[in-house]
Amino acid sequence: MNSDPNCIFCKIVKAEIPSDKVYEDDHLLAFRDINPAAPTHILIIPKVHIPDNNAFTAEDDHLAGRMFKLVRELAQQEGIAESGYRLIMNTGPHGGQEVFHAHLHLIGGQRMKYPMG
Ligand code: 5GP
Ligand code: ZN
Repeated sequence: MNSDPNCIFCKIVKAEIPSDKVYEDDHLLAFRDINPAAPTHILIIPKVHIPDNNAFTAEDDHLAGRMFKLVRELAQQEGIAESGYRLIMNTGPHGGQEVFHAHLHLIGGQRMKYPMG
């Protein structure tokens, strides 16, 4: 599996650094953000190192579908499916991306202001 030894999320995938995992399968990992913006703040990542949304290829199409399905499941599990939530994928400098391993933020549990930060 493609992995970047300098990437913090690849290290989380390999359990080289700890995380508060909420879901894991062969393709995806979900864990709680270390600096939560709301009561629920989960990061959903492909296990393979894909730097950002621009770097997904046709071979990764199944990952995007899996990530959105997992969002629905985790939203139910967290009890925020009905109250609602915000999904964010920061991309590049203008998007404010800080970790260059593609990830969805699932944020909810309170009414969100827009834009955040
Ligand atoms: P970005 O700005 O790249 O979209 O978001 C990166 C997110 O990763 C931030 O919300 C930040 O709090 C979170 N984060 C950075 N390092 C770690 C870490 O080591 N563990 C966890 N759980 N979250 C992290
Ligand atoms: Zn990575």
